[in-house]
Amino acid sequence: MAHPIEVYQCANCKFPQCKDICPTDALAVDGPPWRATLSAQECFACGQCARLISPDAPHHCTGIHVSEDHLKRVTEWIKQRRDLAVIIGPGLESCSDWVDLSRISTAWRRLGAIVVIRAIDLAGHVRTEIVREVKVRLKKGEPFVIDSRCGAIRNLVENFYPKLSSHLIKTDSTLFAAARKARSLAPEGCRVLFLGPCTAYKRVVDEATSAPVDAVLTWSEFETICARQGITLSKLPQSEFDDIGMQCREAPIAGDVASELRGVNITTEVCGEYTPAQMVSYFDAIHLRELPQEPSGFISPFLCGDCYRGPGIYAAWRSCRKEDAFSWIRKTIPAYLPADGELDVVYERLNNLEEAQGSMRYPALCKEFIADLANTITVAPVVSQVAGALLSVLLL
Ligand code: SF4
Ligand code: SF4
Repeated sequence: MAHPIEVYQCANCKFPQCKDICPTDALAVDGPPWRATLSAQECFACGQCARLISPDAPHHCTGIHVSEDHLKRVTEWIKQRRDLAVIIGPGLESCSDWVDLSRISTAWRRLGAIVVIRAIDLAGHVRTEIVREVKVRLKKGEPFVIDSRCGAIRNLVENFYPKLSSHLIKTDSTLFAAARKARSLAPEGCRVLFLGPCTAYKRVVDEATSAPVDAVLTWSEFETICARQGITLSKLPQSEFDDIGMQCREAPIAGDVASELRGVNITTEVCGEYTPAQMVSYFDAIHLRELPQEPSGFISPFLCGDCYRGPGIYAAWRSCRKEDAFSWIRKTIPAYLPADGELDVVYERLNNLEEAQGSMRYPALCKEFIADLANTITVAPVVSQVAGALLSVLLL
């Protein structure tokens, strides 16, 4: 099985954006002329470097690639007309004002899906189960437990700090819980695949001895499949997701379990805003017992902060039709009536700031991003005006 991240065709890069991005030094960059090499042993597939490969990034990186291993698997199943069960990840779910998920459901049904469910529907159930597990384990005397819903964190702990593995939560992640549900609804022999923002779960699935998921696709890989199959999402009719009798509208995030543990006298450490490098240092410190105090209670680390911020999401933002972004801006600020061309300026600025931050967070959902926008943009008055209005709406 191929490692999820590969480096090739990297040469003479003028701006090696990858240079300082890897939190574990798995990516070594020599030059100039710049050339990167990857050590698969040191890489925990966090996907930070995969954020550089957006086709229209200012200095488009040609060297980093998401392995096509899982894409090839799924392509083969489609060719063989295998029954598929598809789990739609939280990436676009949180932005459903922009993208019509029901058309994605239609696309998968055309590609052979018997079952199409949303992972997010299981999030509430999984949260409840994790809360229960945390209480039981701490009561039995275990000093601390670590949330393991984030695939990158799971890879990091299992590969770099195996002694800490026993502290990982054992309850199924939201993805695995959804996969078991999808499998139970589908005929035997059905292939189960996850479509989401996460490159890390490709490795989790390949390394697990009995993963309920057979392949993990990023949104950009899904777009590739649609293009190859001649499917134009915007032209498809809508179709329903399978109803699994559960509903939750919140994507898994760092701190969501911690908030449920408040009031029951359990210490929680939420690492939602840690950079990848800070996260690695934090685990180094736990491992080497260098923290001022031994950790206790519940540790809640998510490498991307929220599940909809994963590296495989960029295509969704990129492919998000300008009209969709415009309609979001109009909806958010109903009083804002743009003059011709003004929305183009806003849209480009949002995109450029995303690139500058090296993070493909959804601007519409990210308060700090909007705050930055309001503070930093002085070029076009209309942008400041819109950013200010966005900020006041989001901070309500
Ligand atoms: S996926 Fe993460 S750990 Fe692997 S090379 Fe890229 S940045 Fe480094
Ligand atoms: S991996 Fe990408 S950013 Fe890094 S040197 Fe190669 S082409 Fe440039």
